[in-house]
Amino acid sequence: MAVQRTLSIIKPDAVAKNVIGKILTRFENAGLKIVEAKMAQLTKAEAEGFYAVHAARPFFADLVKFMISGPVMIQALEGENAVQVNRDLMGATNPKEAAAGTIRADFAESIDANAVHGSDSAENAAIEIAYFFGK
Ligand code: UDP
Repeated sequence: MAVQRTLSIIKPDAVAKNVIGKILTRFENAGLKIVEAKMAQLTKAEAEGFYAVHAARPFFADLVKFMISGPVMIQALEGENAVQVNRDLMGATNPKEAAAGTIRADFAESIDANAVHGSDSAENAAIEIAYFFGK
């Protein structure tokens, strides 16, 4: 598997819990390098654009409201098989179903406030990294 990049967001719930450092350490311990990073307060338009693929889903409005409820930390991670390595570190979308020791099992409260975002494919990773960091 080649070296890949993936987009990660530490969501407002995890930033509010003061666990940015703990989450970044998990990425580094798994061999992922933080190659881009910034704190941001997303606008409604930015959050809607980022999650446009979910626009028709019933949870869309609440998801956008949550994502703009406080600052987030956005980073691009690079490493072997980075998309899947990050998904494995994150755990299942619903923290109640997330495997023990995953970020969501340890830091997330609910399926909507679930601590982190991670790209689900190399193709989407490229789109998402460009969305927040440019080319
Ligand atoms: N989400 C939600 N309710 C649901 C499903 C998803 O609020 O029933 C939110 C949740 O924050 C999730 C995001 O929408 O992380 C994107 O959903 P997706 O299925 O892509 O999950 P992920 O890739 O983040 O695990």
